[in-house]
Amino acid sequence: MPYDIVVEGLHKQYGRLHALKGVSFKVPRGSVYGLLGPNGAGKTTTIRILVGLIKPSGGKALIRGYRAGSILAKRYVGYAPERFSIAGSWRLLDFLVYIGRLYGMPRREAVEKALGLLDWVGLGSFEDERFAGLSAGMKRRLGLAQALMGDPSILVLDEPTEHLDALGRVELLGKIRSLAGEGRTVLFSTHVLAEAEQVVDRYAIIHRGRIVYEGSRGGSRSNRLARIEVDRPDALALALDAAGFNYSIQGNQFLVDTRGEEERVLRLILETGVRLLKYEAGLGITETFLRVVEGGVE
Ligand code: ATP
Repeated sequence: MPYDIVVEGLHKQYGRLHALKGVSFKVPRGSVYGLLGPNGAGKTTTIRILVGLIKPSGGKALIRGYRAGSILAKRYVGYAPERFSIAGSWRLLDFLVYIGRLYGMPRREAVEKALGLLDWVGLGSFEDERFAGLSAGMKRRLGLAQALMGDPSILVLDEPTEHLDALGRVELLGKIRSLAGEGRTVLFSTHVLAEAEQVVDRYAIIHRGRIVYEGSRGGSRSNRLARIEVDRPDALALALDAAGFNYSIQGNQFLVDTRGEEERVLRLILETGVRLLKYEAGLGITETFLRVVEGGVE
């Protein structure tokens, strides 16, 4: 299966703050991938590395095999940031045409494309409005339209449903699905799990800079997480890393994605020689995610 996005052992430090602590995931071509996590988890940081706005402190991020941020990688990517903003005096159509011209489109083609996209994102009657007059949700829609002007194979959308009303959210999720239906790859972030579950093919839950869970929608998704407490967390972390298990850690509490291999995880604990203080298995994703959002593993 070809992967459009490959992230391996990604680290990012902002001064002393370790925002990403070894994030790894792969996005299959033509799929919808959700990056889920509470505020401050590291979603935006991951996305900004993928689109080349910031550099990782370590690890790999590849777009179609090219280093994220390189010109070759950027060719493939359309990006809608968390807070899309331009000078307030821009009229919507003029702005999109300008973007199209930057992509080298002849003026007529750019106008046609811009009008089509404004219509598609639900801003059809606002072509002559100025950016300053838009609501937050409308700005979001324009952000999506500009991301599509270059006809990208890969779309990276940071919290695309934020500020949209209930109907707008449903519509947007439908659009994300239809983009994948056209063969595009879509990576988007959100902190609303229920929302993501409707449209993603695969998703990762990111918490405190680590992937806690990575998998596909449905199937064996639930009951794979285990909460584990040991006396020497550092030793267990090393063993889990070596065995390739995803986990998040807080104090001496681990949340481990057992991938259904609970026996292996338990054997790992025994072999590492740490003392097991607590083992709670079969945690559902939704429940776990909500706890995480509500402020920590415990
Ligand atoms: P949100 O939904 O709130 O945007 P997020 O999951 O996207 O959350 P990030 O924005 O990636 O999270 O932030 C991860 C961590 O890195 C947070 O602790 C944040 O405060 C910190 N951080 C992000 N950008 C910077 C920066 N430029 N300088 C210093 N710290 C930063």
